[in-house]
Amino acid sequence: MNDLTQCVLTPEVPTEGFDPLGVGVHRASTIVFKDAAAYASRGDRGHEGYSYGLYGTPTTRTLEAKLTSLEGGVWTFLAPSGQAANALAVLPFLAAGDHILIADTSYPPMRDLAETDLRRLGVEVDFFKPKSPDDVASKIRTTTKIVWCESPGSSTMEIMDLPRIAAIAHEHGALVGVDNTWATPLNFKPLKHGADIVTEALTKFVSGHSDVLMGSITIKDMALLKPIRSLIGRMGIGVSPDDTSLVLRGFETFGVRLRHSERVALAFARKIERHPLVKQVLHPALESSSEHALWKRDFLGSSGVFSILFKKEAIAYIPAALDTLKVFAIGASWGGTRSLAAPMSIDGFRSATSWSGPDVILRLSVGLEDENELWADIEGLLASLEAGVNGTSSGDEHPAVGRG
Ligand SMILES: *Cc1c(COP(=O)(O)O)cnc(C)c1O
Repeated sequence: MNDLTQCVLTPEVPTEGFDPLGVGVHRASTIVFKDAAAYASRGDRGHEGYSYGLYGTPTTRTLEAKLTSLEGGVWTFLAPSGQAANALAVLPFLAAGDHILIADTSYPPMRDLAETDLRRLGVEVDFFKPKSPDDVASKIRTTTKIVWCESPGSSTMEIMDLPRIAAIAHEHGALVGVDNTWATPLNFKPLKHGADIVTEALTKFVSGHSDVLMGSITIKDMALLKPIRSLIGRMGIGVSPDDTSLVLRGFETFGVRLRHSERVALAFARKIERHPLVKQVLHPALESSSEHALWKRDFLGSSGVFSILFKKEAIAYIPAALDTLKVFAIGASWGGTRSLAAPMSIDGFRSATSWSGPDVILRLSVGLEDENELWADIEGLLASLEAGVNGTSSGDEHPAVGRG
């Protein structure tokens, strides 16, 4: 063979006896076929076969298989982010004139998608009170195609009675989708509690290192496969095998990371809730949570992220208190190795429920740093709030702390 041709062609090397623990990174757009007949009939390979890089490689299939098994579903699709997974979970099932019911406490970009794009396309959008299956029953219509849930709710942590909501939705022929990012497939199995579709932001705990974005959609019934798969194809949305391999690597330590973070987060939540400047800690595993019993009934564990509501007099001092943090970094997202603090705004993201709490709540995500050093950081933050409220702050609690 001519040298130039040899440069292009890939020689076959033996793979027998090569049994690595890691998953290979298979980069592919083109997949070749052994003859013209195989190429002509490539459409018959179905969702499990390989026909084009967009529709999967052994790398993406490995991650999909892991998720399908943990969620108790029949198939999983990967998407370039958690929000992309949410969008691709609802779009295939909606047309002009249809209706979607969305939990009022859903991840804000999901609200935005509904209010901006779904409405523009002629879909009718309603939001329901997450704690009220009766509100779902009163708002559901014959045209409702999807009831979209997220339990607990983003930032404010309301637990939904998914079995009851799913029963109402199914009675009316609507699908039930759940964004399960907080609990992850280790701590809640929405498909076993009535959901038809579950999405995860793998960006958070599953990948776990704050360096990759990915999402997943797992379905309970093969009837849902074609609508989602074909829309993903028409929109040309896929994930890179390199990103997938990062998620697969993080997946191996996901269980121990989550168990650690949820234990430390709950211990912190219990201590923080006793502080005089704290109005409430929003964490469903706390006995003080009004949905604790519901959480205990359906969930297998909690998560590493929770929110703090401070008393009114402390709120003005939150920004200065955040600047005292030395180990926690300030930033969005969560579920990584690094602990994060993020002041979150709730007003403007609720329409079916009235949010009576302060507009700024503090969300903490507990990572893997030394537990005592993290707690010292929280004590420093609380002390800074006290100093602000008592008028004893010396004004030097703004050290220029470097954060990554
Ligand atoms: C972060 C998050 C998402 C979106 O994940 P991205 O990968 O950042 O798009 C979706 N739902 C919930 C509940 C989240 O916390």
